[in-house]
Amino acid sequence: MLKTDLPDDDAIRASALTSGDATPAQPSPAAQFYIDPELVTLALTGSGTGLWDRDIVTGEIRYSPAWKAMLGYGPHELSNRIEDAYVRVHPDDLAYVRATMQAHFDSKTDNYVVEHRIRCKDGSYKWICSRGKVISRDSEGRAQRMIGTSTDITALRETAANLQHTIDLITNLTNEVPGLVFQYRQSADGRGSIPYASDGIREIYELAPDDVAHNDDAIEARIDPRDLQTFRQSLLDSASHLTPWHLEYRVNLPRQGLCWRQGDARPQRMADGGTLWHGFIMDATEHKRIEAELHELATIDHLTQLSNRRHFMAQSEAELARMRRVDGEIAAMLMFDLDHFKLLNDRWGHALGDRALSAFAGMLRAEARTGDLVGRIGGEEFAAVLPGASTEDAARFARRVQQRLEDSPLMSGGTRIALTVSIGIDSMRPADHGATQALSRCDKALYTAKERGRNRMEVYEESSKYRD
Ligand code: GH3
Ligand code: MG
Ligand code: MG
Repeated sequence: MLKTDLPDDDAIRASALTSGDATPAQPSPAAQFYIDPELVTLALTGSGTGLWDRDIVTGEIRYSPAWKAMLGYGPHELSNRIEDAYVRVHPDDLAYVRATMQAHFDSKTDNYVVEHRIRCKDGSYKWICSRGKVISRDSEGRAQRMIGTSTDITALRETAANLQHTIDLITNLTNEVPGLVFQYRQSADGRGSIPYASDGIREIYELAPDDVAHNDDAIEARIDPRDLQTFRQSLLDSASHLTPWHLEYRVNLPRQGLCWRQGDARPQRMADGGTLWHGFIMDATEHKRIEAELHELATIDHLTQLSNRRHFMAQSEAELARMRRVDGEIAAMLMFDLDHFKLLNDRWGHALGDRALSAFAGMLRAEARTGDLVGRIGGEEFAAVLPGASTEDAARFARRVQQRLEDSPLMSGGTRIALTVSIGIDSMRPADHGATQALSRCDKALYTAKERGRNRMEVYEESSKYRD
């Protein structure tokens, strides 16, 4: 039996919900806060919340009109039997509802709270959140009466489902695109963290998103020391001018080893003075490899692995420009032309000629010091620039090369093939309009060396015989 005598559904009082027992709450002089139970009922009804009152002993349950309206029933429809109530619960939710209810009856929980589907009058289901509490128990603690509220959360669930769908979509997109999609945050004092990193971080840095969620130390540890300073500076520049971040840099990874990465992101200023970037990082290793290959093709002579003419001249121009900037700087240039090379080819074959060219290049390389420039500028013509060297230094360099050539003759089937070289030398001069002017003086000196019998060197001299 219900303790309270409810003449009809409308009479379910919110008082029972707030007082914690079956006695209607009365305004007590000591009460600091009091709302008329009528108003509470109206407020709950107006907010779309239905009330229910269940007698566990008799199996009777009574619903407020708002509760019934929620499911499309009129104030006088619906039975007040608990068995009928359970029939309306979605079959998939029934066991969970019963178990939750039982746990509360058994005093294992303070409240009864479930999110479940209930069938409406028209047969459709609504998602309902029901909360309740046992408000009276017998002397042995058995639950006798329980009251509660029910709220329609269908729209909320739909919004949550849509939100989840959007999150899934974005997560899938960011995880499926190759590379790392990220959000990078740098606080005003320069500390960095990655609040969001897509799954690509496992490939790009061989880290997990959690490794960098609070600070970016793990990433900095992966960046090649040669590029770390540039990496930091590029972010500082991007932050201070709010310009897009773009960088190609190297990383050292435990599994993949040395790799190239390309990062692009856009910064925005945060209210606390920090900076927030959104962007992505791609694997640039293959791209860098091709770039290096193309660069090599464009600058290196395949047979001798020396700089080709174009690259050698560009490097010489750069050296001339450097010389001009520093007062008193000197540099010498040498031009080499192998003697009677046509004859060598004719007699021993082109393949041996190739071998001779490559061996001679090796000798030049062996004589050159760091900073010296060496190139193949024609068929059997080579040149070198020795920064900081006088023509005397260059002449010594030339002699050493000639000596090497003499000491290491080519062999063909046991026959020793002598090869000699003629050399023209001069200084690079700051007044020269370009490196070609120095090369042309070397060429003239070389011509003299040929004229005077080959296998010798000449230093350029201002004399009428050079004039055209
Ligand atoms: P000189 O002593 O006057 O320099 O005579 P030379 O025969 O060396 O000069 P010339 O310019 O008449 O001939 C150069 C030869 O170098 C002709 C060419 O076939 C050969 N040559 C040029 N490039 C290559 C190459 O890549 N491989 C080989 N095997 N020979 C080359
Ligand atoms: Mg020649
Ligand atoms: Mg020659």
